[in-house]
Amino acid sequence: MAIVCPRCDGNGLIEKIRIKSFGITLYVCDECEATWFHPSTISFYTFIPIESFLEARGIEWSDKELEKIGYYEGEKYETDNKLDMLQFGSIKN
Ligand SMILES: [Zn+2]
Repeated sequence: MAIVCPRCDGNGLIEKIRIKSFGITLYVCDECEATWFHPSTISFYTFIPIESFLEARGIEWSDKELEKIGYYEGEKYETDNKLDMLQFGSIKN
């Protein structure tokens, strides 16, 4: 079953979106666009805004660059994420 976004609580569902040029998968709320790098980090306090993530890398929110994989279902462990929270923190700062 799909995961409800903890940020907008009940309004959005977590969607898996692949950024083709980076080869990573993000977990993005389809309503408020709160974003997580890994399903194990999905919580109210840990989201980042997708716009800042994309802007910092010069990526446009377009169908060419972003591939919607579908809703994130349950707690399946994902291994294709090359970027984790720590790395993003250091890039951002
Ligand atoms: Zn949301």
